[in-house]
Amino acid sequence: MSFADVIRTYRGKDVAAEIGHRSRADVERALAAPAPGLDDLLSLLSPAAGAFLEEMAQRAHRLTVQRFGRVMGMFAPLYLSNVCTNRCVYCGFNAAYTSLARVTLTPEKAAREGAALRALGFRSVLLLTGEAPHIVTDRYLKQVLELLRPRFTSIGIEMFPMTVQRYRELIGQGVDSLTVFQETYDEARYGRFHPAGRKGDYRWRLETPERGGAAGFRRVGIGPLLGLSDWRVEGFFVALHASYLLKNYWQSQITVSFPRLCSAAGGFAPPAPVGDRDLVQLICGLRLVLPDVGFTLSTRESPLLRDHLIPLGITVMSAGSRTEPGGYAHASGGGAQFTVADGRSPGAVAEVLRRRGYEPVWKEWDAALAS
Ligand code: SF4
Repeated sequence: MSFADVIRTYRGKDVAAEIGHRSRADVERALAAPAPGLDDLLSLLSPAAGAFLEEMAQRAHRLTVQRFGRVMGMFAPLYLSNVCTNRCVYCGFNAAYTSLARVTLTPEKAAREGAALRALGFRSVLLLTGEAPHIVTDRYLKQVLELLRPRFTSIGIEMFPMTVQRYRELIGQGVDSLTVFQETYDEARYGRFHPAGRKGDYRWRLETPERGGAAGFRRVGIGPLLGLSDWRVEGFFVALHASYLLKNYWQSQITVSFPRLCSAAGGFAPPAPVGDRDLVQLICGLRLVLPDVGFTLSTRESPLLRDHLIPLGITVMSAGSRTEPGGYAHASGGGAQFTVADGRSPGAVAEVLRRRGYEPVWKEWDAALAS
């Protein structure tokens, strides 16, 4: 049974209403549970749980330190191309934005970006592209990976969904992790936000993480794009998704990200804004039911909020990010996907982590150890 079949069993169920009806007593029951489950999560995401945020935060902190220690994995995104055939209404790379300078790095330029990131201390890199397989070809990626592999101990991809066979080839070429955000689990809304292009296929995207698990990625990352739909409902479904992946692809480490939509090119305003307090409740609630899942935080959030979120469940962070191709070593002129709110250098972020008693980990895994 694929996750698309699992999520179909929720059709006709009003998850938002169920969350809305949860009472203080339900929240107290969830917090008293030794290992809260998905039904408890409905209570922990409810408006009633807002009054228990401090208690949730303390428990989330204790659980994270217990399972992960006081360490923070560090990574940086490397945008290879901002060419895209999709028209996601919230994205700066939307194919309809004809005024955006489109750039695809040559493999040599990508290698120079990699060298700049390595000089900053990074050993884990996440490669990103739009959906343009006619430009980001198999041959192109192979060349890029050949040049980047010697520089990094971990290479992840956040690209267009691919087949199991194609993922196996990429693993053979040195990629070890896959990130793919569902954006929203609400199928009707998904269709409205993705009006054209291959990304409009909800099921193809929904089943991508399991194709990644089947291919054998060491790590598979998922997440909703917060702001597109009710965060409480999205929180429930991303936990359901993570639970499904943990059960069926236990060889892969599962991670959840919390990208929050603030503003985007084209003036798109998030239809379901998520406040800072909401984000804290979401992260703490998910930590209590997913104690072994890694949580990733990007530089979309402000320095102040990121610093506050460090102890609440986050296990991996990006720092010093540029979201345009060529942003680290080249003046490419290519547009950025979104505005970075935390513009501190990786060194400055690492210093904050150390002051708070956390060890920034630049090299958390080495392919050589697995071979
Ligand atoms: S979100 Fe991804 S697929 Fe959609 S327009 Fe942006 S780059 Fe393309």
